[in-house]
Amino acid sequence: MNDIVFLTRASMPPFEEYTKEIEDCWKNRWITSFGPKHNQLEKSLKDFFHVKNLKLFANGHSALENTIQAFGLEGEIITTPFTFASTTHAIMRNNLIPRFCDINLLDFNIDVEKIERLITPNTSAILPVHLFGRACDVTKIDKIAKKYNLTVIYDAAHAFGIETDGKTIAEYGDASVFSFHASKVFNSIEGGAVVYKDSSLDSVFDKLRTFGSDENEFIEFIGSNGKMNEFEAAMGLCNLRHFYEELEKRKKAFDYYHQCLSDVIGIKFPVTNENQTFNYSYFPVIITDSFKISRDELLKQLNSNGILARRQFFQLANHYPCYPTKFAEDKTENAEYISKRILTLPLYSGLDKSTIDYICSFFINV
Ligand SMILES: *Cc1c(COP(=O)(O)O)cnc(C)c1O
Repeated sequence: MNDIVFLTRASMPPFEEYTKEIEDCWKNRWITSFGPKHNQLEKSLKDFFHVKNLKLFANGHSALENTIQAFGLEGEIITTPFTFASTTHAIMRNNLIPRFCDINLLDFNIDVEKIERLITPNTSAILPVHLFGRACDVTKIDKIAKKYNLTVIYDAAHAFGIETDGKTIAEYGDASVFSFHASKVFNSIEGGAVVYKDSSLDSVFDKLRTFGSDENEFIEFIGSNGKMNEFEAAMGLCNLRHFYEELEKRKKAFDYYHQCLSDVIGIKFPVTNENQTFNYSYFPVIITDSFKISRDELLKQLNSNGILARRQFFQLANHYPCYPTKFAEDKTENAEYISKRILTLPLYSGLDKSTIDYICSFFINV
């Protein structure tokens, strides 16, 4: 009997490296609220991304919700329905209206050819997602945003460590939001960050992540609690040192999957554009209608044999039952097609060849 194969496993530094990193916390008793580890991680990440402005948050969702608030957006925001719930919940929880743009069938990112037709006098922003570690068409999105004077906020939760046209992904858009959740390619246990161009937002972000209060504890507006603690920042500092090592291990697993599955008829993979690097964050497969069994039958077989593959994302955001039904009127045919056929397979650093062989056997021996 095989062990359970989880969809992902958190990257972690050597135990001694982490305990050494947190020793300071016992010395100074500073365990949260903008301590030295927190500030060190902000600095390290600015260097990593080649950016001037970055603020840490308690998690990616908190960073995203607060970023939408920081920009003072109004009306409608154009986004993708094929994403994790966090993206569109952040729009809804800011009392704004998401307008759902279809995706393209190559990398499942927002279809830049379909954005303009959704723009109305009420549109204030575009919020695309760099899905599964592949960058959106940032050049075209920038062009559209300039033409219509729209803010661009990228949900870059999947995109840590990638580059496009020789620049880090954080250098595009008015802001990019990252998640450092345990399941992501780079983690600080829980955590997130926003990178932004306009330095005048510095104090706005500072206040938004601490109850709307300024340095003198004067409450200026209705902020949230979005602080990252020292133990999380310490994990981030350690994991950042090992990021490229981990990436190399993920690449090995990713390449081996491709090797094993390349001759299987009826499955397809997303394409990574040549102008970008990749972070090997996820392994989605499209089970087309010419595969021998359906996506859901295959999933059942995998799950009942202890392989915890998932259907990310089988539920499109424009069809969430908790949202007004009118959102379903934004027709997103490609997103419908992909959401019904996609399966994400286990992928993490250290996933070994024999486990990949076992997973692939369910594709080969059907
Ligand atoms: C993980 C994720 C988030 C939210 O990040 P958390 O750190 O878990 O709050 C947002 N958007 C996408 C696309 C994600 O995958």
